[in-house]
Amino acid sequence: MTQFNGPIDILKMLDSSNCGKCHKPTCLAFAGAVFKGQSKLDDCPKLESDVIEKYGDYTSSHISADQLGNAAIDHLKNRIAQIDLASAAQRLGADYEDGKLTIKCLGKDVSITQDGSIITEIHVNLWMAGPILTYILDGKGVEVSGKWVTFRDLDGGEYKYPLFEQRCEKPLKRVADTYTGLFEDMLQIFNGKKVDYHYFADISIMLHPLPKVPIMICYSKPVDDLESTLSIFFDSTIVDNLGFDGAFSLGAGLTLMFEKIALRHSGR
Ligand code: SF4
Repeated sequence: MTQFNGPIDILKMLDSSNCGKCHKPTCLAFAGAVFKGQSKLDDCPKLESDVIEKYGDYTSSHISADQLGNAAIDHLKNRIAQIDLASAAQRLGADYEDGKLTIKCLGKDVSITQDGSIITEIHVNLWMAGPILTYILDGKGVEVSGKWVTFRDLDGGEYKYPLFEQRCEKPLKRVADTYTGLFEDMLQIFNGKKVDYHYFADISIMLHPLPKVPIMICYSKPVDDLESTLSIFFDSTIVDNLGFDGAFSLGAGLTLMFEKIALRHSGR
């Protein structure tokens, strides 16, 4: 069976005319789509039939981020099925009733059943489901310290901070720059609290995405030719209560959620 190591293997067979007859803007875009299994080689009318005959049986083994995320969630659910939810509730200071452990996420009730299912009125994306299940599985239930730290301050954070900035702080800053209702939503819908004068920001809001995992978002508007800034802070107990990867995933999940809210409100 045909295998390609990457889109470039496919690109080499195309004529590089970027003619668009495959409904992709460039040959490279087409090669990428074929590699991911989103297009078939014979969607390019310029490929010779013998090439299609030789390589047309290619089936993508590319795994999407969503597939990876779903696999990770399944793994966490399997782990939940093996723990005693009542003891987990005790460890975390959470409620336990009728086989369900219930915690508050962003001011809303979120219940987890013994098979790891999440029951809630809010939309829980893949990136948020991971931190919720991780909190229940591995959270130590340590009391919040009230000391704020950045992702970079965490053990190993310096190395992964550029990715955190790329996936969390920068896109959330873009949302804040363009969607004026963002902070009002955080206060009204997600039970956020204003924290005055922290880090000289124009606005600082504390949210509780998980009971013992507060985060603070500080935003300063652009002034003259100075760009706006947005920083996310965690409580210094974050690694005890959610783990390093959980902190990253939480930042990314919240960012995605606020991006979707902003898109919905702007009608795009
Ligand atoms: S139809 Fe073929 S040659 Fe044209 S842009 Fe698509 S891949 Fe490239």
